[in-house]
Amino acid sequence: MALTDLHGVGPKLADKFNSLGISKVSDLLFHLPHRYEDRTRIQPIGACSPGQNVLIEGQIEHTAVVRSRRSMLVVVLSDGTGRITLRFFHFRHYQRQQLSRGAQLRCFGEVRAGFQGLEMVHPGYKKLSGHTAEPLADRLTPVYPTAEGIGQKIWVGIITQALALMRRGKLELEELLPESLLDRLEFPSLCSALDYIHQPPPDADTIALSNRDHPAQKRLALEELLAHNLSMQKLHREQRAQNAPPMHIRTDTEVQFKSRLSFKLTHAQQRVISEIHADMSLNHPMLRLVHGDVGSGKTVVAAMAALRAAGSGYQTAITAPTELLAEQHRRVFREWLQPLEITPVWLSGKVTGKKRQQALERISAGAEVVIGTHALMQEGVEFSRLGLVIVDEQHRFGVHQRMNLLDKGCEGGAQAHQLIMTATPIPRTLAMTAYAGMEVSVIDELPPGRRPVTTVVISNVRRPEVIQRVAAACGKGQQAYWVCTLIEETEAIEAQAAEAVADELSSELREINIGLIHGRMKSAQKRRVMDQFKTGKIQLLVATTVIEVGVDVPNASLMIIDNAERLGLAQLHQLRGRVGRGSQQSNCVLLYTTPLGSMARQRLEIMRQTSDGFRIAEKDLELRGPGELLGTRQTGMLQFRVADLGRDGNLLSMIPSVAEKLLRGHPSKVDKLIHRWIGDTSRFAGV
Ligand code: ADP
Ligand code: MG
Repeated sequence: MALTDLHGVGPKLADKFNSLGISKVSDLLFHLPHRYEDRTRIQPIGACSPGQNVLIEGQIEHTAVVRSRRSMLVVVLSDGTGRITLRFFHFRHYQRQQLSRGAQLRCFGEVRAGFQGLEMVHPGYKKLSGHTAEPLADRLTPVYPTAEGIGQKIWVGIITQALALMRRGKLELEELLPESLLDRLEFPSLCSALDYIHQPPPDADTIALSNRDHPAQKRLALEELLAHNLSMQKLHREQRAQNAPPMHIRTDTEVQFKSRLSFKLTHAQQRVISEIHADMSLNHPMLRLVHGDVGSGKTVVAAMAALRAAGSGYQTAITAPTELLAEQHRRVFREWLQPLEITPVWLSGKVTGKKRQQALERISAGAEVVIGTHALMQEGVEFSRLGLVIVDEQHRFGVHQRMNLLDKGCEGGAQAHQLIMTATPIPRTLAMTAYAGMEVSVIDELPPGRRPVTTVVISNVRRPEVIQRVAAACGKGQQAYWVCTLIEETEAIEAQAAEAVADELSSELREINIGLIHGRMKSAQKRRVMDQFKTGKIQLLVATTVIEVGVDVPNASLMIIDNAERLGLAQLHQLRGRVGRGSQQSNCVLLYTTPLGSMARQRLEIMRQTSDGFRIAEKDLELRGPGELLGTRQTGMLQFRVADLGRDGNLLSMIPSVAEKLLRGHPSKVDKLIHRWIGDTSRFAGV
């Protein structure tokens, strides 16, 4: 049913609803109130306390216009149990007359503590006639999140109409959750849930409702999470149904590569490599997520996959989200692959002009390994035989971007294999939604000889001690990072701040070679600094968070994070992962500036307690929700209408099995669920 079929909705208002993603009458019902007002009972004024939103009724004892900087209408209302002052900063002459002494008023507003006792600022009010009794609301009054030009009265009026249509069965609101599930969870049916949420009875559990913890809301959250899971599964199923080039030849190059490595692969690495190779040998695309904590050795796994593709005559594209990380891959891969006569092509946004042209030519001519940033996903990049796409630190990229890369040229309509590597640990539950339908490999073993990093949390007041500690460590031949963080992350300001810290440290630590690295530097400059740090010419590296991912200097054993309270857990964990890569005991100092908020305190405390990526990720999810964790905020993919992955985490764990049951037992409901909550999924496929 179209919105304009409702009373009071013309094309203009319908347009406004459209811009909120509401295009049908039934969509309106999924626009949920974010709070409620209780206008079903009158609260005695004497029983009011500050912070409450209440309906009160009383007689005006006194009205005056008080003039200070601006005139204000002040009304004192009493009901025999107490007095309250009403204040109006904007008022018209007629109001002053209306609100005269002796008048009977009913007001709704927030009670505050004022100088002269309780007050309400700009309450909504109604003058009562005194003859006929004014009826009270029989349901709680919903308050909707809204956009300009749509007042609460409009929402309430229109949603009331929609509810009436729903009750008469005029809207297509099919129950899409199996009855057995609803019974088991004691969840209400769709219609009674919507009814309850939009018009709760006076005795409703308002605490549960405002926490979005009521079964009526939970069942909608469950539907939405299911829809996301199912749509990702569908997307991945569709991809997997395509053809892909099978790559089953183990070449001498692979054997040679392994024997030339300076280390032996861990069991976990070997297992994951064989899982990948098994996938790649099929004639359908691999869709595999490799999940391994910081330092678990994902790069060599990627290299083994790339060599398999190269051995079968296919190209591999390796992308990383930052220039520095991509550079690191470039360096490592060059070192590893050049002796095998494979020269990786490099492409980032900073490669321009003739160099870019050359890179593009080599890519379209079939270069075996191509490494770069998101520049690889952009237009103009064409492969001739793309067989494998490797995305490192996937959580920074959106699904769209991955899809773009896949479109870049595989022979004969086939699709490339996909390998996604992620280090920021994603809680298993979350992975079930975002990566539904992907195979998962976990590298659950660190290379031998690693020692856990000892972490301390220290106030900036003790900065001089920390600086002395850096001096002592560097004096003993160790190397250290000093990471500068800012709230407003513009590269320019961040660079300045890092420069200032480098200056400060240089003047304090004259005997130490200090280097500086930040995002504003040219690639060649960055590379030079990193090389000097790697070879030990620089002992202390002052850096912005550009070093967050991928940087690998095993001799560095001390990490100072300045203003650590500003960073999220995922970032802190990534940064700390830069040390503890060599054989010596490593330390991390989290320097904070007071006052420390409670969230920040909890973050630093968990960092001090554990280096277990999974625990950190779970805590992160709990503290701030998953949007940033997955980096999908920009892509809009994981923006939920009702669900909140932090709050509804308990639902997540049941999603895979419920999804499975739906797919098997009620396949016709699957597309309907996706359609209800997500709409057309082709947008994920970059269409
Ligand atoms: P991440 O999983 O964080 O990407 P890397 O691939 O960068 O980890 O590996 C971290 C470091 O560990 C690198 O210096 C790498 O050469 C080294 N490494 C990887 N695998 C092993 C192994 N099996 N034994 C010893 N060192 C290893
Ligand atoms: Mg890595």
